Amino acid sequence: MKKKLKIILATSNTHKVEEIKKILTTYEIYALNEIITPFEIIEDGKSFKENALIKSKAIFNALGKKQNEFITLSDDSGISVEALDNAPGIFSARYSKEGTDEANRNKLIQALHKKNLTQSNAFYTAAIAISSKYGHFSTHGYMHGLAIDTPKGNNGFGYDPLFIPKGFDKTLGELDEKIKLKISHRSCALKLCTYILKIIERVENQ
Ligand code: IMP
Repeated sequence: MKKKLKIILATSNTHKVEEIKKILTTYEIYALNEIITPFEIIEDGKSFKENALIKSKAIFNALGKKQNEFITLSDDSGISVEALDNAPGIFSARYSKEGTDEANRNKLIQALHKKNLTQSNAFYTAAIAISSKYGHFSTHGYMHGLAIDTPKGNNGFGYDPLFIPKGFDKTLGELDEKIKLKISHRSCALKLCTYILKIIERVENQ
């Protein structure tokens, strides 16, 4: 019988875990704390890709003998606002001092107002990294749209109530989550990842 790939998600962000599980439906997916005790990882990379690889490699290295059984998959993502010189970018999670979603959104709104703006073109980036005994791989996905200064809706997480995807007139906070799953930066990067996962699965089953 064909062996299914066992993937550990190298993230404790429950929103990301939920979104990833809804896309990668044909694999055995494990939350980090189901397999090992989570530990602090310093994300000191200079890009989404570097930070995603730091996370997937750190968890893979911590697996020890389980490296034969599992691969790890991480996500590093954020929003870049064009009028703010693409801030907060890789610092999206730690944009405000408090680092909560609400405080981060408020800081973004204030930054727009400081420039006398109520909106700006913006885009989300997601870098997905996979670490395995066959090596380390990464993909990227993007979602373009508009960052606005008034939070709307409660769906999604992070900056979603402030983000209107291109081609829509509502924020991701207001739109049905199925729409986000179709068009998001994370979904695009994960769809590319499935090609890498298929190859690893084929090699595992040879
Ligand atoms: P990370 O955990 O270091 O990758 O930080 C990701 C941060 O970027 C999150 O805490 C959010 O603030 C933001 N972010 C990334 N992806 C999304 C998304 O899909 N919706 C809303 N905010 C996001």
